Amino acid sequence: KISYYNGQFKNDDEITVDYNDRAFYFGDGVYEVVRVYNNEFFTLDEHMDRLVRSASEIGIEGLDRARMVEIVTELNEKNNIDDGSVYIQVSRGIGKRNHAYLANKKPVVLAYMNEISRPTAQMEEGISVITADDYRWLKCHVKSLNLLANVMEKERAIRAGAHETILNREGIVTEGSSTNVFIVKDGVLRTHPANNMILNGITRLEVLKVARDRKIPYEEKAFTVGDLMNAEEVFITSTTQEVTPVTEVDGEVVGDGSKGRITHAIQEGFDEEIHKLNLV
Ligand code: PLP
Repeated sequence: KISYYNGQFKNDDEITVDYNDRAFYFGDGVYEVVRVYNNEFFTLDEHMDRLVRSASEIGIEGLDRARMVEIVTELNEKNNIDDGSVYIQVSRGIGKRNHAYLANKKPVVLAYMNEISRPTAQMEEGISVITADDYRWLKCHVKSLNLLANVMEKERAIRAGAHETILNREGIVTEGSSTNVFIVKDGVLRTHPANNMILNGITRLEVLKVARDRKIPYEEKAFTVGDLMNAEEVFITSTTQEVTPVTEVDGEVVGDGSKGRITHAIQEGFDEEIHKLNLV
């Protein structure tokens, strides 16, 4: 495959990363993952807007959005991937290790593509999750390269034989280690409001759009771990997980243990959005 680092497209095995890249020392940068279906980007504009916003939130100003789009478009042309994703990260720059920002450093872009497929079995059968304390920083709306708490909490799920860890702050469910979380309570879809406590997922926004289109009532309102345990339905969302039902929380069965009616309707609506790409 062809990838991109610091101004150059190269074969994967020819890419070398500068060890003074601040992404390496400090996780000092931001990133995006964009899904590719049928060789076309899904919700690219939303992802690029969020990348620029995340960069600006950490003081990387004036990111050239048009150039970012060019880079991923060229990568997609070169790699010609049907079903996959593109990862794009922007670090603050390259320079000797120093907490202080270095003057006149240019952001460094890394981008590459992966072949992946839709998690069809999980989307049908559902997954199990565990819950854990959310001890991350208070700028979770920034898609930062700093994912230490997220990777530690994902690992906790894997070790427990589960698929994802759903985080809570003092009993309030925020999001998963790499996903947003929705519940259905009294027939109403509910998810944490988009503030500094969560990443406002692009898939989350798509789900809310589908809910509006299909007249499924929803609230962007925080809920507790107790609400999660007692929910009629639970699902998680992300670019790669799409809309995946949760059938078990901390070993307790959710609803009747199978994918719920509203989850199914949301999946159908999301599928329609995907199929608007490359209509055949
Ligand atoms: N929340 C966190 C912490 C994430 O890392 C992600 C994606 O990786 C999401 C939510 C879902 O965001 P999106 O739907 O934009 O992929």
